[in-house]
Amino acid sequence: MKFFIAPIEFSNVSVLNSITKDISVIFKDNVSLISLPLNTAAAYSRDRGQYFSTQLIADAMKLTPAYDGKVLMLVEFDLFVPVFTYVFGEAQLNGKHSIVSLCRLHEEFYSGKTNDKLLHERSLKEILHELGHNMGLIHCRNWNCVMHSSQGVEEIDIKGNFYCPECSGILSNNGYKDTFVKLTPDNDSLSKIIDSDHIT
Ligand SMILES: [Zn+2]
Ligand SMILES: [Zn+2]
Repeated sequence: MKFFIAPIEFSNVSVLNSITKDISVIFKDNVSLISLPLNTAAAYSRDRGQYFSTQLIADAMKLTPAYDGKVLMLVEFDLFVPVFTYVFGEAQLNGKHSIVSLCRLHEEFYSGKTNDKLLHERSLKEILHELGHNMGLIHCRNWNCVMHSSQGVEEIDIKGNFYCPECSGILSNNGYKDTFVKLTPDNDSLSKIIDSDHIT
């Protein structure tokens, strides 16, 4: 399984680099950065000052037939779907496309304080969450699991950056057994995994 990351109007190079590195470790180097000529203006709601994520995914589908794998769009603007005030991201269940916004993952958004480490951690969790939906996972009741649904950013901070044993089992059954490095509560710090990966 290949994973394609498509930054859209994305200027945060340091987050992009660190996220790409982490995702490459987790998904065993099956990750490529791609450029999608997406017309984001078509998904913009002037009333809400936000972008309709479902529309962006629908438009991206027309641009990605050549990419055989999962396509993750990364944006910095705020996303919505009509029934919610905002969404952190959206994904097609058992599908190819997902989108994650950094907009409400910034600590500046809440406290006015910059925290790059927190931004990075939150981004990684939301990316793993949306890619989990792509690989057939639904929301998990386990508060530690990255597939737990997050209504607010504090719930993202509570959960881990790993698929729980139950979700990992479903991924294996869905054919993604050898696609990713398994994260567990025992070694849920990705930095540890990256370190050990670099040592061996
Ligand atoms: Zn979800
Ligand atoms: Zn789970």
